[in-house]
Amino acid sequence: MSTSLEMKKIQKWYGGLHVVRDFDLYVDPGEFVTFLGPSGSGKTTALKMIAGFEQPTGGDIMLGSRSIVDVPPYERGIGMVFQNYALFPHMTVAENVAFPLKVRSVAKAETEQKVRRALDLVKMGEYRDRFPNQLSGGQQQRIALARAIVFDPSLLLMDEPLGALDRNLREHMKIEIMRIQKELNMTVVFVTHDQDEALVMSDRIAVINEGRLVQVADSNNLYYNPKNRFVASFVGESN
Ligand code: ADP
Repeated sequence: MSTSLEMKKIQKWYGGLHVVRDFDLYVDPGEFVTFLGPSGSGKTTALKMIAGFEQPTGGDIMLGSRSIVDVPPYERGIGMVFQNYALFPHMTVAENVAFPLKVRSVAKAETEQKVRRALDLVKMGEYRDRFPNQLSGGQQQRIALARAIVFDPSLLLMDEPLGALDRNLREHMKIEIMRIQKELNMTVVFVTHDQDEALVMSDRIAVINEGRLVQVADSNNLYYNPKNRFVASFVGESN
């Protein structure tokens, strides 16, 4: 079940550094929204606050009608994929994907069925008994994606998931991620500093600069009606 996400006046200070300023954003159920901005603009920090790995200094975050700022990360029902796949090296592919179900004490038969479905979705069913070091980077990233969606998260967060892949694989994974998102009708927040990735994949793009949401719009609007010089030059860099 996909859910809406709302960030309400979210702030993050690290000591004297104000890294996320007044984020107000509503993401529809089933929508694909990308945080696009230069390195150090606050994208990962914003994502970590949604995931629960960082606590906002102020503001509220809602998943559907529920405030989650005081909910521990693993009880938020949010899936995450990072740039460096973070698979467990001593576990097989199937064991890696089953892990989120194990910590949620899901019964064995249901676990088996969900793992099979997730591996089929990422087209990795034949690799279930391999270990991560026997897989290519692209294959490892597919497994990381399967592990993030196996428990039917209400929201999927992805932090530069394509950053470590070579150009061909990146193009391929872009399409695969879009296919899976549509197939499951998942709400997705995706982080990248790559304009092309954002323009191709997203329903809407939230452009971030120096901790502020500068403009939130679909690709067309962003490209043809940039709100200011920063958006125009940053988004225009894709050409
Ligand atoms: P991005 O993901 O856009 O590259 P980040 O959210 O990682 O940006 O970082 C935003 C700013 O916050 C940067 O200036 C970074 O140095 C700072 N920052 C991030 N994490 C911490 C931390 N744990 N302690 C102090 N400063 C941090």
